[in-house]
Parts: sequence; C-alpha cells; structure tokens
Amino acid sequence: GLIMAEKERINPFESALKNFEMAADILDLSENIRNRIRLPERELRVNFPVRMDDGRVITVTGYRVQHNTARGPAKGGLRYHPDVDIDEVRALATWMTWKCAVVGIPFGGGKGGVQINPKELSLTELERLTRRFATEISVLIGPNRDIPAPDVYTNPQVMAWIMDTYSMMRGYAIPGVVTGKPISIGGSLGRNEATARGCVDTIESAARRLRINLKEATAVVQGYGNAGNIAARLLHEIGTKVIGVSDSRGGIVNENGLDPVKVLQHKQETGSVVGYPGADTITNEELLTLKCDVLVPAALENVITAENAPKINTKILAEAANGPVIPEADPILFEKGVFVIPDILANAGGVTVSYFEWVQDNYSLYWKEEDVNKRLREIMQNSFDAVIAVAEKYKIDNRRAANVYAVDKVGEAIRVRGIFP
Ligand code: NAD
Repeated sequence: GLIMAEKERINPFESALKNFEMAADILDLSENIRNRIRLPERELRVNFPVRMDDGRVITVTGYRVQHNTARGPAKGGLRYHPDVDIDEVRALATWMTWKCAVVGIPFGGGKGGVQINPKELSLTELERLTRRFATEISVLIGPNRDIPAPDVYTNPQVMAWIMDTYSMMRGYAIPGVVTGKPISIGGSLGRNEATARGCVDTIESAARRLRINLKEATAVVQGYGNAGNIAARLLHEIGTKVIGVSDSRGGIVNENGLDPVKVLQHKQETGSVVGYPGADTITNEELLTLKCDVLVPAALENVITAENAPKINTKILAEAANGPVIPEADPILFEKGVFVIPDILANAGGVTVSYFEWVQDNYSLYWKEEDVNKRLREIMQNSFDAVIAVAEKYKIDNRRAANVYAVDKVGEAIRVRGIFP
C-alpha cells in the first residue's frame, strides 16, 4: 500500500550518487574523475527465453553491470527478485566498487540480477533459467574479468550451475568464475557465513568503542536469509539476546530472547519465521522501531526513510543489507546519536571471503576455516578502524567517512592508470 508507493519513489542509484557526490565534495575530486565514476563502465541487458516444465516459454530480463574496474576485475552478486531493474543493479554495482576499496581487496564493482520471482519456479526451471542467463552474460564474466557471487534469492547451487555452464563452454573446469560455490567444486570454507561473521566483527568493534557489553545487549534482525539468520545466530552465540527477527512474510518478537537456530528450523519447515511458537507477530515496519542495542537490517534497500528514522530506537545500526538507509534518513540518525556501521563496511565480509575463495581457486590450494575467519576478522577490524579515523579527521558521520575512504582509493587508481589511448 502506502509503503510500497513510497518505496517506488526511491531510486537506489540516485541514493548511491548522492552519497558519492558528498564524498567527492569532501575530497575535492576533479570533475574529470567524478564523471568517470558517476556512470558504470559497462551495462548489459539481456532478454532471454526459459522453457517451463509444462512446455510454456517465458521471456525473462536480466542485467550485468560493471561499475568500475580501475582496482581489479568486477566483483559482485547476482540477485533473483521480481523488483530487479537497471537502477537497482547500477546502485548495487556502485556500492561494490566502494566496498572492495573499503576492505582493500583488488576488485572493482559489479552486480547482476534477473527480474523473476524464483519462489514461483521449480528447481529444474531455476536451473534452466540460470544456465541460459550465465550463457547470456558470458560475454562479460570470467575469472579475470568479472566474478559473480550469491545475493538475494541466489545460493551456492545457483553458483554451481553458472560455474558448470561457463566451464562446459571452455571445455575444462574454471572454478574462479564465481564465488560462493559449494565446497566440493572449489568453494571456500567460511564463505557461507562470511557476510554475517564480518558484520558481527564490526558490531564487536563498535560495541568496544561505545562501551556496550554485547553479553547484556539486545538485537533485532530484519530478513532471515544468508546474512540475517546467520547474523542472528552469531550474535546469540556471543551472548546477545535476539529479541526480534523477520522475513518477507512478517516479523516475530519475544523480549526474553529467541533461539535463532530453532527459528531457522521453523522457517525451513513452514516457509517463514512467522508462526514460531512462543513469540508475538509484528510487521516489518514495527520490527525496525523496536527498542534494542543492535539493529541489523538484512533484507532489501530503502527500509529506513525520513519517515521512520525518528522512531529508530537502537544504539548500533549494522547494515548487513545493501542500501537499507536512504540518504534523507542519515542526518536524522546522526542527530539521534545512532552509531551507523554503513553497508559498504558492515557487509563487506562476504566479498572479502569471496576474494579468499578466488585466491584459493587460483592457487588450487585451500585454507582451513579458522584461517579464513581469522584473516576476515583482521580485515574487518582494520577497515573499521580506518573508517573511524576518517570520520574523526573530517568530523563526518560514518557513512560519509566510509565513502570518502573508498572514493579516495578508487579516484587515485583511476588517476594513476591514466586514459587509454
Ligand atoms: P537471502 O535471499 O539469503 O535472504 C533474503 C531474506 O530477506 C529472506 O529471509 C527474505 O524473506 C527476506 N525478505 C525479502 N523481502 C523482505 C521484506 N520486504 N521484508 C523483510 N524481509 C524480507 O539474501 P541475503 O544474501 O541474505 O541478502 C540480504 C541482504 O544482504 C541484501 O541486501 C544483500 O544485497 C546483502 N548482502 C548479501 C551478501 C551475501 O554474501 N549473501 C553480501 C553482502 C550483502
């Protein structure tokens, strides 16, 4: 209803550009470099047929965008969602450029998506769609060019089909073309948990800074997929009480704390967290304004706006999702003293371990899970400290600081490479 209408007005690419311009102003970036960063380097739109199990053929639209490759090959997930459009993919690709720069890994930014509701497809339909989409975007992707990974409603199985399709075209196994693969074909231990683990690493850094004891703290998590459900479990494991969670069908709350593992079992059995015994049902809107110490949006973008920002009641806002806060809400949160860990920092654990996976694939030498987690933690903590140092230097909020830190690195890479020819 009203909320959807409101959200439709918010263009995530415009949000990404607003944040970029603020950072570029602070850095006094030249107009030449700005122009080359504003628009993505390459955008591919594909329309392709998929045969359904009953013999019908549908036509599906998908995208792959490479925002910037100055620092290395494009890197970024693939989203399967009915609301996917070019501006969403552009925004997500742009955020990937900043994210890779924030954590200092040698990748540029890319993203892709297919406008489809995968919940309405059978497994065989999903496989045919994925293999055809992989073929359509094979003109752009490759282990040294552009490396997809999972995002909303895609998973390791989808990555395995893409890896297989790409490998069949070349005639030999090429595991490095995607990350987030199953372990059996060159995936990395720890990748599945990495986004959430990295997010919790940054929450721990923030809590230390704010002198919050996470063992006595409460948390709320919106979205119960790869990022959200694992973040809830890891927070629960360190002693934080998870009092509310949600998915696309709604939310549940229990002030005495939920058991994230049992909630996941309930979701796997029934299709939703809603209806979990011993919890009250609430809407996603209500969930976001619950009083808590740590709020983790881990679903989709544009969920915190100028309308609901005044009602946000958390000390730490850790953006596991990409773009959950629109630019108009940022000053409101800043004024309220909410400590925001911006998306390009908070959820960079996923791409960081994707980078580890790609390195392992290139070397055909695989690491122990504890080594993955330890290296991830070190990168998350160092990146957190670096962003905070920029915030203090320029006296700006954490999002601007992360953007300044990232745009500076990308701008320098563009400058030093020069212009071809
Ligand atoms: P996922 O498909 O595993 O889970 C998505 C979850 O969001 C599901 O539980 C779904 O029910 C829920 N959801 C969908 N619409 C919702 C709504 N309107 N309200 C509340 N919940 C809703 O996806 P994911 O990989 O966990 O991605 C979630 C967010 O994290 C996205 O913003 C994504 O870009 C970001 N992210 C993911 C990764 C990764 O490695 N998977 C890395 C970085 C960032």
